[in-house]
Amino acid sequence: MIIPKPQRIIKLDQAPYVVKAGDNAQAVLQEAILDTTLSQESYVLTIGVDGAKISYGSEVSKAYAIKSLEQLLSTCDGTIDAMQVEDEPSINYRGYMLDVSRYFFTVEEVFEQIDFMAEYKFNALHLHLTDDQGWRVEIKSHPKIAEIGSVRYRTLFKLRKHTGYYTQEDLKRIVDYAHSRNIIVIPEVDLPGHFQSAVAAYPELGCYGDGVKVAENFGVKYEVACIGKETTVSLIKDVLKELAEIFTDEYFHIGGDEVPSHRWSHCPYCKAKYEALGCKNWVEYQAHFMNELASYLKTLGKKVIMWNETEITGLIDKDVIWQYWQGGLKEEDLVKEVNNGRKVIVSCCEPYYLDLPYSINGLKRVYEHKPCFDGMNRNNFIGAETCMWSELVPNMKVLKRRAFPRLLAVAEGIWNGSGSYDDFIEALKTHRAVLARYGVKNTPKCKYEPKGLIKLALNLWWARRVLYWGGLQNVITNAKIEKLSKRR
Ligand SMILES: [Zn+2]
Repeated sequence: MIIPKPQRIIKLDQAPYVVKAGDNAQAVLQEAILDTTLSQESYVLTIGVDGAKISYGSEVSKAYAIKSLEQLLSTCDGTIDAMQVEDEPSINYRGYMLDVSRYFFTVEEVFEQIDFMAEYKFNALHLHLTDDQGWRVEIKSHPKIAEIGSVRYRTLFKLRKHTGYYTQEDLKRIVDYAHSRNIIVIPEVDLPGHFQSAVAAYPELGCYGDGVKVAENFGVKYEVACIGKETTVSLIKDVLKELAEIFTDEYFHIGGDEVPSHRWSHCPYCKAKYEALGCKNWVEYQAHFMNELASYLKTLGKKVIMWNETEITGLIDKDVIWQYWQGGLKEEDLVKEVNNGRKVIVSCCEPYYLDLPYSINGLKRVYEHKPCFDGMNRNNFIGAETCMWSELVPNMKVLKRRAFPRLLAVAEGIWNGSGSYDDFIEALKTHRAVLARYGVKNTPKCKYEPKGLIKLALNLWWARRVLYWGGLQNVITNAKIEKLSKRR
């Protein structure tokens, strides 16, 4: 069976196709015809007693048709019923975000994730490249930012060093690999908060950066970029310029989330700029900076994406796309914002954050989520994206446990949009051989909808993470910085 479920399957009055040993899509395919009356992402796949035929609207949909045929061959039990599959996505932007900052994943591991994105017809990979806990991209004009910013000497209570960053050559390989599978790549440099790893490399980037280390615990850090200094803003623009040349697709993400203004309010540079700009509050001060970066990226030909944050919503240039994770912004307020012209990518943390336990984002909840909310202007709804944050995802083994099978539920939800959960579970059972290619042992059982004690245990496990998020270590670190800033 095909996942995501195609839009229409029409049974044909013919004998089924009998699968022969060694059959693959190329061997079974008799004819592939470009049909310009079909849209770019539409295809028609016909299976009969003699084999398969496809017609497609573009090379992209030709690849989708072949993927569907391969899945039919891998998941059938010796015969494939004669049928006509008429298919196209219900949502154009189908994204997956990978956090490579909190834990670094190798180029080969990213390739494997691109492969499973292509298997399930995702078409946008968003890489969260920088954060307090690690800077993961080489910047040639400022080499220390990756050399120092990518190293943390321990993680929480584990005394092991964690390192790794992508050279610009690595990033080009990732972009090329994704493009060859019809997937665009969106880089994210999180600014001006979640910036501690950069300050660790170049202390002058912070308001009071001396002695700052790459963060070793998780949480919202006080060590934001000192945007009162022209030198900081100019270094950030250098970073954006270098990355904009490597990531050749149209979108660029500049973060913008969870920015405490505390450090700025103690900083002479920031206070002076705040006065000069005539800001009424620190949110305005941040908005001025985000808008400056957005217009800079526009001159480089990019469309800018930011995480939605409630307070800043009305102050940001209308051309900036919101990535809606929730951030305190109610659904109805988002709908208003979108209907007033803001474009949006929807990534509700519940249920689209796949690092959350199954006890919160259960498989059915993920499957049934409708990212295009009622009343929202569809023309401004770019699409949907599911996110894999990695604070508690230290390796691929854990990642796969979290991603599968929920990633397939997202894939079907955003491609098909009107499938049934029970049918999805039946299809999932047939996908063991497909998933095994990615090292996933898939056993669709009740553990994807945990109940009772298991649910309680998982919720407690998650609460432990929340404790880290605003945890004791964070309080101590921030108190130290506070003391330092007052002394100056
Ligand atoms: Zn400052």
